[in-house]
Amino acid sequence: MSSIFFPPVIQQIDSEIVANADVKLYILRLDIMHPKINGNKWYKLKYNLLEAREKNISTILTFGGAYSNHIYATAAGGNIFGFRTIGLIRGEENTPLNPTLQFATEQGMELVYIDRHTYKKRHTQALQNQLKQQFGEVFIIPEGGSNLNGMRGSIEILQTVKGFNTICLACGTGTTLAGIALSLNQEQKVIGFPVLKDGDFLNQDINNLLTNYLNSGLPTPVYSPAPWQLVCDYHFGGYGKVTKELKLFCQDFQIQYDIPLDYIYTGKMFYGVMDLIAKGFLKSQSLLLIHTGGLQGNLGLQGSL
Ligand SMILES: *Cc1c(COP(=O)(O)O)cnc(C)c1O
Repeated sequence: MSSIFFPPVIQQIDSEIVANADVKLYILRLDIMHPKINGNKWYKLKYNLLEAREKNISTILTFGGAYSNHIYATAAGGNIFGFRTIGLIRGEENTPLNPTLQFATEQGMELVYIDRHTYKKRHTQALQNQLKQQFGEVFIIPEGGSNLNGMRGSIEILQTVKGFNTICLACGTGTTLAGIALSLNQEQKVIGFPVLKDGDFLNQDINNLLTNYLNSGLPTPVYSPAPWQLVCDYHFGGYGKVTKELKLFCQDFQIQYDIPLDYIYTGKMFYGVMDLIAKGFLKSQSLLLIHTGGLQGNLGLQGSL
């Protein structure tokens, strides 16, 4: 399944601020692994698709908002690897379809809209049973691909990448961070930047994910996670919120380094890291920032910015 992807690209970022701060800064470009499936969402999808295939289930059903990177990746991945896909989309249908849902449809995903009240019950057994009745035999992947299979795939993100002492990434559910923490050694550490407001709650969520994974019997390269921490100050108002300052930062970053950032996830993390460096934190570190993709989401925001 991995053979369709380009090998990982790591780029060094050179700037005066970085050099003056005695920091080495590198970016892992998961955004350019594949023209359609990219970023951490592929890693979170991989073992879900493999489990579905193993169980001979040919239909994938999953959930997401109207701009979801996960819906986008599942639609593309389903198409490439021969699954029928159904996307349960939160809220009402809006036409014309936004670029995310337009793409999903082109990949063959069937879209079904569900009201916000029902959407909140997406994790309950009752709703899952109902969906199985309605759609027949389906393999259900949770929103964002955030389950143990998702963590298992995330362990592989840095499989061939060695030698950095601090890894930084943006966090939604923390599933990707948890997988990465299980792929590093104890001399390395992970810093997560939650994109949600009041992201402190993720500390507990990530601890639970790690405990569940280690109790699951799924393969893991290490049995104790590398040290990790969250920096919760760079959410810019919360999930999906974009300020002018953030937007300017992303545009400037692209001009300077020719690397596009998305406003929902990677832009906030990169802003946070650059700010911490400028303030004298992270000294003498060799940093690897993970570009987790998500650029498709910018298309949907164009009108509102
Ligand atoms: C979903 C997503 C994340 C967050 O992943 P989690 O595993 O939920 O923390 C980060 N970056 C991008 C671009 C994403 O699409």
